[in-house]
Amino acid sequence: MTSETDSSSRTHVVVVGGGFAGFESARRIVKQARKAGAAVAVTLISASDFMLYTPLLPDVAGGLLDPRFVAVPLSQSLPGVRVITGRVNSVDFTAKSLEFTDQTGSSESVDWARLVLTPGSVTRLFDIPGLSENARGLKTTTEALYLRDQLLIQLELASRTDDPEVLEQRRTFVIVGASYAGAELVSQMRALADEAAKQRGFDPEKVRFVLLDVAPKVMPEVGDKLSAKVLEVLRQRNIDVRLETSLESVADDHVVLTDGTRVPTRTVVWAAGVTASPLIDSLGLPTEKGRLKVRPDLSVEGHPDVFAAGDAAAVPDLTKDGENTPPTAQHAIRQGKALARNLLATLGAGTPKPYKHSDLGLVVDLGPRFAVANPLGARLSGFPAKVVTRGYHLLSLPRGVNRWAVGLAYLTDLFAPRSLVSFGNVSGDEAKFSASQGIPDPEQPT
Ligand SMILES: Cc1cc2nc3c(=O)[nH]c(=O)nc-3n(C[C@H](O)[C@H](O)[C@H](O)COP(=O)(O)OP(=O)(O)OC[C@H]3O[C@@H](n4cnc5c(N)ncnc54)[C@H](O)[C@@H]3O)c2cc1C
Repeated sequence: MTSETDSSSRTHVVVVGGGFAGFESARRIVKQARKAGAAVAVTLISASDFMLYTPLLPDVAGGLLDPRFVAVPLSQSLPGVRVITGRVNSVDFTAKSLEFTDQTGSSESVDWARLVLTPGSVTRLFDIPGLSENARGLKTTTEALYLRDQLLIQLELASRTDDPEVLEQRRTFVIVGASYAGAELVSQMRALADEAAKQRGFDPEKVRFVLLDVAPKVMPEVGDKLSAKVLEVLRQRNIDVRLETSLESVADDHVVLTDGTRVPTRTVVWAAGVTASPLIDSLGLPTEKGRLKVRPDLSVEGHPDVFAAGDAAAVPDLTKDGENTPPTAQHAIRQGKALARNLLATLGAGTPKPYKHSDLGLVVDLGPRFAVANPLGARLSGFPAKVVTRGYHLLSLPRGVNRWAVGLAYLTDLFAPRSLVSFGNVSGDEAKFSASQGIPDPEQPT
């Protein structure tokens, strides 16, 4: 058991989750405590030993980037922080301790004096028959690698079948969710399929992508004009976009849409929103739409020594009356920074400040030669947006080696075709929501 204060009587701060919010808060707590002369010891416990730069996951699924390029190693990037790879299962707020399971399945407990809860989110599943069994998500490197391999394997198998029904199943890919993640994914998968068609000599138009969303438009986050532009470009790329439509049921060789259409397919991606990590539900603390309720200073009501931020927290948006901040990396990073300041203020170092941030807009990479971006209200599309988007990600990646690797991959992409390589390391079972994201499987009896 690690104690609340260590042998040198430093206050023990434990951060749960090494994503955007946890990474930034751990980094800032160490840095600012050093500056202020506050005696703290920081431990970060996260389910993986890296911070995943999720905005580039569609590029991994599209075979453009290697998964290691988008994984920022926690121990190498957080000097002064003790990093433990493990999944936190429970928190005892009275005893001020938590319990986690490590990679071997062994459990251990840790005491804390200050607790930071940033376990992020998981894919929000709906009660659609066959969904959790037959669809896959896009939140982890496991899922991104599975999708890349699945696309290449299905296209290869399609070239060796004489059965027209099986051929159609293998050449059809259904993606649900036309927000930025789904739109980026379908664009990257289309690009990989086009490359496969070119190199293996089949008609790219024979590969069908269906993009579904219950909303009346794609990517409403970027405003009406850019949304219309995105729709036009997706359709030009032979992507069958169906709005105000979702899934009625999912089987292993077809889906039924809500309008009754039956679509033969063996690949369904569900990228239709997120919900807070299952850890939040187990805490017994007040939540709002599944996210842990926090005050504007990011502390938890009734627990001044517990803080939360990022996708897992319902943070009041002080720029929009009555709303909470959306689950984006943009907010998670800035909340991590504000949280560090406010947590240290409880130790007598500095003064607290409520979290307030006006949205800076989005950058969305939509595959070869196209992107849209609305930085600070400007509306960009095409080549200028592509430059802004790629430049933004290169600057935002919090480690030089990753920036270098991604930059080189983008450069290579300008003059060399994508590699058609499927390692087949990730099985369909490993990529299921339950295995890859730790979501309890609603279709399996407990
Ligand atoms: C495909 C995709 C594209 C995206 N693109 C953008 C974009 O372009 N711009 C943008 O602003 N946002 C984007 N987002 C959203 C963004 O990824 C999230 O808002 C952001 O990751 C939230 O940060 P977080 O720190 O709260 O959670 P996360 O980054 O999800 O990190 C949570 C961490 O906690 C760990 N964890 C979870 N449960 C436990 C537990 N019980 N014990 C220990 N550790 C645990 C997880 O392994 C993970 O490391 C995208 C998301 C996806 C999936």
